Amino acid sequence: MARYTGPVCKLCRREGVKLFLKGDRCYAKCPIDKEGAAVPPGQHAHRRAGKPTEYGKRLREKQKARRMSGVLERQFRRMFAVAAHEKGNTGENLLRLLETRLDNVVRRLGFSTSPRASRQLVFHGNILVNGKTVDIPSYQVQPGETVSLAEGLRGNLFIKRALWAASQRGLPAWLEWDGSLAQAVKGSLDTVGFDGVTLAGKMKTWPSRAEMSYPVNEQFIVELFSK
Ligand code: SF4
Repeated sequence: MARYTGPVCKLCRREGVKLFLKGDRCYAKCPIDKEGAAVPPGQHAHRRAGKPTEYGKRLREKQKARRMSGVLERQFRRMFAVAAHEKGNTGENLLRLLETRLDNVVRRLGFSTSPRASRQLVFHGNILVNGKTVDIPSYQVQPGETVSLAEGLRGNLFIKRALWAASQRGLPAWLEWDGSLAQAVKGSLDTVGFDGVTLAGKMKTWPSRAEMSYPVNEQFIVELFSK
């Protein structure tokens, strides 16, 4: 499946905001934090700097959502068409579709720290939905479904660190961990162990707009695609 494999900090600099594409490093070693503001990429970026056009503003919002989710243009447009056919606000429908993709739910449950790592976990058959392996990152998780990690990852240090970091940040209200997992990640990183723990989480409800992780103006995306 086609995907963007280039440098990701460049994408944040282009959008002028942190898109959190590198996991924990985005909290500790982000170039945008170091420079105090996002410097656009490219040797002659300053020449392009100027007041954005109305079209440009809308394009940037779409690109932000697309880049945060790791979805390519054609798939993004397909998702927009689905969102437009659903009841309710098209922009919110679109963000909900992005938020409840399996790869995003895996990240939000703390099984990985970055969108790329989540996608890889899914691709490699390490994620189960209601006990069955699902290796399609775009799979839409529904309320009531349980997302769990394959047994083989129980001792994985990367997973341990990711889950512990998620416990420090807290889960969004629309997701919950299995009780044994919630207990296991309490305390310091050194004391975390997963023997006898169910490495799983559940989607309780649909996320509300405030609970979604996309800092974009969805109305601009609707306007862009409605022209
Ligand atoms: Fe790089 Fe993460 Fe900072 Fe974006 S938020 S610039 S991906 S470190």
